[in-house]
Amino acid sequence: MQKCPVCKEPLQGKYWCQQCGAMFVCPNPACGAQVRKRDAQACSECGMLFAPYIEQRKKVRECPKCKKRQGLLEQRCRACRFWFNCPTCGHKITSTSSLTCPRCATDLRR
Ligand SMILES: [Zn+2]
Ligand SMILES: [Zn+2]
Ligand SMILES: [Zn+2]
Ligand SMILES: [Zn+2]
Repeated sequence: MQKCPVCKEPLQGKYWCQQCGAMFVCPNPACGAQVRKRDAQACSECGMLFAPYIEQRKKVRECPKCKKRQGLLEQRCRACRFWFNCPTCGHKITSTSSLTCPRCATDLRR
């Protein structure tokens, strides 16, 4: 039986510890990235927020620009129109101030 490295209780699943809430692997089936930050609120790869998923199985993300929550599959923020991923090549846009995609130079202001 594997034990939680944080609270030392036996682990029920591989994604998170039900005792202390520590997250180990992103539970988004399309992602599955390792969660290295112990106090992370969201996956650094796909951006999914952990709390709504654990509580209600909801896949949502927070817009890095306006902080509004929306579905994880949205390509673009509905409120401030920030692109989460480039509409042309799918590259993840990390900077909230970039006007073009750093990979393919698609105009992100459209
Ligand atoms: Zn734990
Ligand atoms: Zn993820
Ligand atoms: Zn936004
Ligand atoms: Zn691109």
